[in-house]
Amino acid sequence: VAQTPFLLAAEGLNKSFQGFQAIRDLSFYLDVGELRTVIGPNGAGKTTFLDLITGRTKPDTGTMLFEDSHDLISMNEYEIYRLGIGRKFQTPTVYTDHTVYENLVLSLAGSRSVWKSLFSKVSPDQKDRIYEILKTIKLQDKADWKGGALAHGQKQWLEIGMLLAQDAKLLLVDEPAAGMTDEETYRTGELLLSLAGKHTIVVIEHDMTFVRQISQGRRVTVLHQGHVLCEGAVDHVQNDERVIEVYLGR
Ligand code: ADP
Repeated sequence: VAQTPFLLAAEGLNKSFQGFQAIRDLSFYLDVGELRTVIGPNGAGKTTFLDLITGRTKPDTGTMLFEDSHDLISMNEYEIYRLGIGRKFQTPTVYTDHTVYENLVLSLAGSRSVWKSLFSKVSPDQKDRIYEILKTIKLQDKADWKGGALAHGQKQWLEIGMLLAQDAKLLLVDEPAAGMTDEETYRTGELLLSLAGKHTIVVIEHDMTFVRQISQGRRVTVLHQGHVLCEGAVDHVQNDERVIEVYLGR
C-alpha cells in the first residue's frame, strides 16, 4: 500500500529561548485537506510552533518537510511564504485605507510591493477569482468598503480571504474567534468548515464551543509545555485525564 504523503511532517522539533525550552521533541503530521485545531494552555508553545512552520523562528533541532520534498528548516520566511504557507495573526492586519477588493488584489499579486500590484492590471480571471473569494467570505456587498470600516469579524474574514487570494496551500490561522461575538464566531466556524478539504488549515483556538464546532470528525492536537500531550477526536481529547489536569491546573 502506497503511503499518502503528508502535507506537513514535523519531527523532533526543539526550540529554546535563553535556556527555556518552548518546544520539546514536538512531532506533528498533517494530511492534505485536513482542518486541524491545536489547543493548549497559555505558554504551551502554539505560537512558537507556527513561528517554526513559517520560518519566523528556526528550531534548534528537528526536521520539517512540506509536501514530502521541501525542507522548511533550510528555507527563509519569504521562501516558505512563496511555497504556499500563509498565516493569519490573531490581530487582523488588513490595509485599512484600501478597499476590501483592493486588499484581495494586493494578496493575489503575492507581491511585496503594494504600489506595483495596485497599478498593474488585474486579469479577468483574477477578477473572477476575487469575486469568488468575496462570496466565500460573505463580503460580496462590501467590496468597495475601506478595510478600516469593517467590523472586527469582517476584518478577520477578509484576512482569511487574503490567504485564499495568495493561493496558500496551508492556512495557519491564529485564534480567529478572538474578540468576536457568538454570531461572528459561529460564522467563522462555518467559513473554515467550507474551506476544509479544498485547503489544509491549522487553527489555534481557545474557545471550546468553537473548537467543537469545527472539529467534528476531525483531529485535535493538545500542546503542553512544547510537546504534544494528546491528539485525536475532540471528545476523546476533552475527556483525557491529562488534558483535564493541564487545563484545570491540578
Ligand atoms: P502559546 O502560544 O501556546 O501561548 P508561546 O509559543 O507564545 O505559547 O510561548 C511558549 C513559551 O515560550 C512561553 O513561555 C513564552 O514566554 C516563551 N517564548 C516564546 N517566544 C519567546 C522569545 N522570543 N523569547 C523568549 N521566550 C519566548
